[in-house]
Amino acid sequence: MSRSDFEAVIGLEVHAELRTKTKIFCSCPTDFGAEPNTQCCPICMGLPGSMPSLNRRVVELAAMAGLALHCTVSPISRTDRKQYFYPDLPKAYQISQGEVPLCRNGYLVLKTAEGERRIGISRIHIEEDAGKLMHENGKTLIDYNRSGVPLIEIVSEPHLRSGREAADYLRTLRAILVSCGVTDGKMQEGSLRCDVNVSVRPVGMKTFGVRTEIKNLNSFTFVEKAIEYEIARQIALIERGEGVRMETRRYDAVSGETVLMRRKEQAEDYRFIVEPDLPPILLTETEIEALRQCLPEFPDARAARLVREYGLAEKDARTLCQDVALGNYFEAAAKSCAYPRLVSNLLLSELLRHCDGAEFVSPVSADRLAALADLMGEGTVNSATVKKLLLRLCEGDFDPRLVVEQEDLGQIRDKAKLRTVALEVIAENPRAVADYRNGKNAALRSLQGRLMAKTGGRAEPILSEKIMKELLKEEV
Ligand SMILES: [Zn+2]
Repeated sequence: MSRSDFEAVIGLEVHAELRTKTKIFCSCPTDFGAEPNTQCCPICMGLPGSMPSLNRRVVELAAMAGLALHCTVSPISRTDRKQYFYPDLPKAYQISQGEVPLCRNGYLVLKTAEGERRIGISRIHIEEDAGKLMHENGKTLIDYNRSGVPLIEIVSEPHLRSGREAADYLRTLRAILVSCGVTDGKMQEGSLRCDVNVSVRPVGMKTFGVRTEIKNLNSFTFVEKAIEYEIARQIALIERGEGVRMETRRYDAVSGETVLMRRKEQAEDYRFIVEPDLPPILLTETEIEALRQCLPEFPDARAARLVREYGLAEKDARTLCQDVALGNYFEAAAKSCAYPRLVSNLLLSELLRHCDGAEFVSPVSADRLAALADLMGEGTVNSATVKKLLLRLCEGDFDPRLVVEQEDLGQIRDKAKLRTVALEVIAENPRAVADYRNGKNAALRSLQGRLMAKTGGRAEPILSEKIMKELLKEEV
């Protein structure tokens, strides 16, 4: 049997840190990267006698995530203690939601090669993050800054079928959550991470195979690779007659393999009990409706609108909408410009190369990019000059139209002038001329390059090439 005789069954549990200023049950800040143990208090360190009080913003953001993912938001839900012992969890229980989560029964629309598919989302619940263990020189240190940072856990139905599909699901989910302002989605900082459940079964079989769980994946690539490795590993076990065991594994990015962490004989029993220190979470219909009104335009809808309004290619529109800031920047520039497609081209093929960092921040203002696209679209300057101007704008701000005038950077479209330069080039490069006349078309590019050099890169490219070709034909 081969890979194609098996079907993989995959579900994701995604943890997203919510974008609140303060923690879920206390007023400690949630800023990433502070000195260890400088953002904690008796409540988030779980000291006896401290009383939690729920940050209302957490409920609002979690409900927004639910609405964005077509869930039913419960008007009443509750918090529970999930009990387990681990050094990063000072209370020895995590306040989470068990039986009655905030959101249920939603879905996410996934675009696949075969068309659109709905991936079910069984629940979204709120919970607190644990502290962070750091292993250094044989010692383990604990940072409680992350303890009590608000999280939502988004649990999908086992509707995904490959590593690629799971990574696409995570990409789409991240884009939706970021565009609502629910999370910053910074995977490298752990704001978004996921656990993956994988099993395989012969194609056509309805019952599920034994599944394994891969913990804490924090990049799209790792999700895809870990799942594909795990599928192959499970198929190999089945074919050898050994069978898959229920276990928790982790992904080793260096070897590209999943590694055993622990065996589980049955589902863990966390002995959930209702949290006695917190009242039920209530949301009125009016409050839920008000949150629905706050939802932004989602990436797919926005991409479709950019295609419609600005005539962009669909692929470009999708790229622009993957990042809210990038999409906003494009629209700010395109609004004040007669050539939105050129804005998109300059942005995606030139400017993005000069932007580093996970979040898009442009070194050039939207107005300046719009001005460049206008100069190029109306034919005042050619693309080579625009690229040079864009590079200069990355270094410091100026008015491009003014500089084009002052430095005489305008495109040369005067036929007589171009003809004179072309004749000079022909006279100075007899070898390339002969090559061209002997059928070497590449020689034309070199002649054209010399013409560009002689005009300081300002010749109108199509017109000058036409003139060059005519002259080369004439003077045999
Ligand atoms: Zn605190």
